[in-house]
Amino acid sequence: MDSIKISFIIPLYNEEEVFGTLIDRMNALIEDISMPCEVVLIDDGSRDLTSFLMEELAMDDEKYQAVMLSRNFGHQRALTAGLDIARGEYLMILDADLQDPPEIFHAFYEKILEGYEVVYGIRKKRKEHLIKRLAYNTFYRILNKISDYPIPRDSGDFCMISRRVARAIRSNQEESPFIRGLRSWVGFKQIGVPYERQERAAGEAKYTLNKLLKLAYDGIFNFSSFPIKALSFAGIFCISLSSFYLFYTIYRKYFYGDVPSGFTALLFIIILFGGFQFLSLGILGEYLYRAFFQVKNRPNYFISHKIVNKQKVYD
Ligand code: UDP
Ligand code: MG
Repeated sequence: MDSIKISFIIPLYNEEEVFGTLIDRMNALIEDISMPCEVVLIDDGSRDLTSFLMEELAMDDEKYQAVMLSRNFGHQRALTAGLDIARGEYLMILDADLQDPPEIFHAFYEKILEGYEVVYGIRKKRKEHLIKRLAYNTFYRILNKISDYPIPRDSGDFCMISRRVARAIRSNQEESPFIRGLRSWVGFKQIGVPYERQERAAGEAKYTLNKLLKLAYDGIFNFSSFPIKALSFAGIFCISLSSFYLFYTIYRKYFYGDVPSGFTALLFIIILFGGFQFLSLGILGEYLYRAFFQVKNRPNYFISHKIVNKQKVYD
């Protein structure tokens, strides 16, 4: 086989419903592109027929690689597996549900030819739930504001990158990788291409609220020291406030001979600061637990087996 020019990396978790449509679209696209391509499908521990369908396909068509992770490691880690395995000169990451239209390949590749090494999709419009859209918008705005390194707003994992950018991203070996953040962090020539995010072609969203929250936390705590700094500011604020209150009490005692009293005020202040301390511990904990797992240096994923060039390989 000629050396592979383009690798498509697609993570799948319980995507049996959309699988057929996805493969049809990919086949049509690849036929259109007259370059040697491969599609790396990563099964993130699906419990439906996804891995079966993948095996069947990869056994039949050698441009498909099927990679089965040993359990559900989550979207971001499935992507890291894809980045490690893909053999192409350029790598394009997309979701299985066709929310990111694969045909944008042409627009992405044009930018690559212009000399960019990272081309990412910017969602112009989202055809999603109002609440989900609102939550996403708020999150990206906050992340963009507080991140130590600018992460482009409304950009997801949908992108095309060169081999060496993939290597740069993977050289980080982060415990909880946040790919779109790392992608921006590594640098090189980057550009965004606007596109309209479609509705899911079939099936339900596989990101549960819990997984989304984890992603948001990873984005914030991996890329921002703002929460920690905010703690110091809050500390200074509290100290100033209580000093002010102390002087006020002394003043009252001295000039009026009384002290401002109030059991309720006391209780309120104790609860307020108790809560504040818990929150601080929680924020510290977020960084600490990340450091804890990072020190353990656990791999991001394990592969159960894969099918490459129509052959089953056990890792
Ligand atoms: N996905 C995955 N592992 C998971 C959850 C999701 O590999 O634990 C995949 C999923 O199959 C899809 C992509 O990640 O290809 C994005 O998931 P989804 O469409 O549910 O996310 P959303 O569009 O809601 O962001
Ligand atoms: Mg989706």
